[in-house]
Amino acid sequence: MVDIQSASQMTSWMVSGRSLFLTIHVLGVLSFAYIVAKRMVPLVRGERDFRFDQPLVRLGRVLKFWLGQWKQPRYKVAGTLHILIFAGFIVLALRAFTTLIVGVSQNFVMPGLSGRAGPVYDTVTDYAATIVFLCMMIAVIRHLVFKPARYAVPARYGKAHTADAIFLLVLIAILMVADSLFAAAKAAAQSQPGHSVETLAAFSLPWMLQRALASASLPALGRFYFGAYLGHELTFYFLLCYRPFGIQFHVETSLFNIYFAKLDREILKPVRYGVSDQQLDQVKSFGVKTFKDFTWKHMLDFYSCADCGRCSDNCPANAVGRPLSPRFITIKARDYSFQHYPVFGHASIGRGNHGTPLIGSKAGGIYSEDEIWSCTTCGACEAECPLLVEYIDKIVDLRRGKIEDVNVPQSLQKPLKALESRGNPYGKMEKKKADWANTKEFQQICPVKTVGKSNGADTLYFVDSITSYDDRMQSIGRATARILDHVGENFGILGPAERDSGHEVRRFGEETLFMALRDHNVEAIRASGVQQIVTADPHAFNALKHDYKDVPPVEHISQVILREVKAGKIKFNPIANDKENGNSVYAYHDPCYLGRHNQIYEDPRDVLDAIPGLTRVEMARSRDRSFCCGGGGLMLFYEPKEDQRMGVKRVQMAAEAGANVIVTACPFCMVNIEDAIKVAGLEGKMTAIDLAELVDQQIVRKCRDLKEGQAAEGKECVVH
Ligand code: SF4
Ligand code: SF4
Repeated sequence: MVDIQSASQMTSWMVSGRSLFLTIHVLGVLSFAYIVAKRMVPLVRGERDFRFDQPLVRLGRVLKFWLGQWKQPRYKVAGTLHILIFAGFIVLALRAFTTLIVGVSQNFVMPGLSGRAGPVYDTVTDYAATIVFLCMMIAVIRHLVFKPARYAVPARYGKAHTADAIFLLVLIAILMVADSLFAAAKAAAQSQPGHSVETLAAFSLPWMLQRALASASLPALGRFYFGAYLGHELTFYFLLCYRPFGIQFHVETSLFNIYFAKLDREILKPVRYGVSDQQLDQVKSFGVKTFKDFTWKHMLDFYSCADCGRCSDNCPANAVGRPLSPRFITIKARDYSFQHYPVFGHASIGRGNHGTPLIGSKAGGIYSEDEIWSCTTCGACEAECPLLVEYIDKIVDLRRGKIEDVNVPQSLQKPLKALESRGNPYGKMEKKKADWANTKEFQQICPVKTVGKSNGADTLYFVDSITSYDDRMQSIGRATARILDHVGENFGILGPAERDSGHEVRRFGEETLFMALRDHNVEAIRASGVQQIVTADPHAFNALKHDYKDVPPVEHISQVILREVKAGKIKFNPIANDKENGNSVYAYHDPCYLGRHNQIYEDPRDVLDAIPGLTRVEMARSRDRSFCCGGGGLMLFYEPKEDQRMGVKRVQMAAEAGANVIVTACPFCMVNIEDAIKVAGLEGKMTAIDLAELVDQQIVRKCRDLKEGQAAEGKECVVH
């Protein structure tokens, strides 16, 4: 067998290969350790964050989201490329490690690969290197020629990192070529003239390079072999040490980011981890004002972002031209961190120096006021991010900081004051809270009691402010009450004792006001003695379920309806087709706080599908990719800078899907969608209806419940 010296045996510039490569290894590892240690400085100095519980659950998520690349296929081309590259890296990790050791120990063979498994593994890695190389080339071409719109960086967010991204892609491609050339030169040296080499995988990159080197002399092959090995080592360590300076740092941090990702995403982060509500008055400041106020995990998020743009691509605020793009919330913070905690030199933020305020460009901040108030807390960014980067907690924390500095947008000051004084954002009298149910006509067909000591009920219908006070939304309240009455629920409302759930207030960053509203409601609910709670408002549902403690279990009305449909207590009349104008086509709009935040996607759809004759279509963006109507986070009262309303985009999506009726299950959505239908000029062509209203309209009723004229409209009447 003809062979060449191994890399460790060769001598170059009077230095033995072993000494040279040992020096490279030591320098490379020490440099990497130093850089990572410097990158850890802000994390060590950041705020506390409890992420060490439930290790098995966390490991399961690592298997799913990191090893399994669970979210990557949501973008077909980019996702497939990423999965191939990731799989290639995983397969090549062992080969890279073996190659590193061969430089100092010529006969090293990875345990387990000395027998038959060795050639099999070599074949797999030959193909893996080829696939990674091809993917790098495709990725470069995508960046330069077919650049997806989501990669663009608008001028207001800074400069694009395209050159950096391409540089890193090319470096990885060089690494693959060096690795393949190393194997090819060795194989070519071993081959005899006229004999084919069977050790390299056919049509792989090493195989092609070996063919190209087939006629080279043995000394030349030795030089190729040594040069490829040296190139591999230098590129490997350069990549390792360069990655923590840019977006490729996610290669190192993503596993940890996923392990430490928030498990209970629907629960908002407390003001400070480890500080109870009772101890909050001892907290020096609320929220995030300077970089140091972020938790260590939020800083790890900044390092872990791959700059793929998926979050912003799905952000409704970004889609309608609001000055918010979640990707840049992260990228700007990462750049700020790199600038103020440099690898070389001293950190400009220390114990006595907290750094510049993050909000307000005049003071050297990185975020604008409008940026942080533009978020609806819809959660689309978090649902999309393959690396589980968190946004809502950070944005709410930034808002908490502004609220503490009494820096509130003008349009939100009035509703906040009203919430403080009257317990609702409209400033309406508490005694009018149950007016929607107390009309003589409605009490006759559906008596709704106000629960109290002498007026007990099993179920509490928690109405919340918008349904109680908004004339249009009161119809949802009445429909909900009639459904509960129809299924024989012994229910009541809190009436004047009910205050706003505080859901929006909390997401707006007003934690103290939220706590006051919550404590009042919890006391009223407990005093009522109810066993369960039902609401038709997903915001109230989310607050009662996740923000409140020690209250009875809560259900959204869509869950109650589906259960009663299955139990046979609710039956539906068929949809009346309109012969003149054609049939109605329904599209269900997922409210963010019912769908994405609570994963209730199917119940409302199953209810719709149970109505005979109802034709339903899906909008292009639905379920966890639903497009926010613009109602969350006190947005009904905020006047954002935007090119278009979110609701208008949403009704256009419904029209594109062929629908002429939008069904939703949230009063906030109803306000926005009905308004958007008018703005989009679709009045007369499109209508909106709440699920409870539609069910109430189609339900097969007991005779006593029928309003005058309903029997004549063809509704079935069941006599009890
Ligand atoms: S929560 Fe919604 S609005 Fe806010 S940044 Fe994320 S996607 Fe955009
Ligand atoms: S936060 Fe996540 S989705 Fe957004 S750019 Fe970074 S990696 Fe991509």
